[in-house]
Amino acid sequence: MSTDHHHDHGAQDDERRRFVAPDSSRRHHPAPDADEARLAELYDAALDDCRPCQERLLALVAQDAHATADLVNWACVITGETYGEIPDAVLEDDREDLFPEPFRQLAGTYQDHFMACTDYEAMLPQCSAMTDGQRRQAAAAAVALVVGLSDFGIDFPFQ
Ligand SMILES: [Zn+2]
Repeated sequence: MSTDHHHDHGAQDDERRRFVAPDSSRRHHPAPDADEARLAELYDAALDDCRPCQERLLALVAQDAHATADLVNWACVITGETYGEIPDAVLEDDREDLFPEPFRQLAGTYQDHFMACTDYEAMLPQCSAMTDGQRRQAAAAAVALVVGLSDFGIDFPFQ
């Protein structure tokens, strides 16, 4: 499916676009450049509030355990840098609307493993074991989290 427009990361003066998609080059199996570009476009589509592109890109990410792990990992890194750790509000089950079960599982794995720098490797088999629907839930929550944290003006649930 193609679209007639593109969301790009070129708006340098837009403070909300300050996050960049994760650099996977340090990993044993780096993500292809196209995957990183896809995550960046998903972020931009979410910032631009473009629902068709978000749906299209989320569907692609949901088919791919690596891409899902990359995306959730990215959200966890930004969350960790913002709060110093993954806040309990992200890990507990009372905000299922914001943080569905598949996302919480992965965020918990991140929390348990990031100190040892094995977070991505630990998240990957979990993502592989999920259904497309579960990966989509995790990916959508991750994008929403990245977008929420990119905008200081937004009322975030655990500020
Ligand atoms: Zn779009």
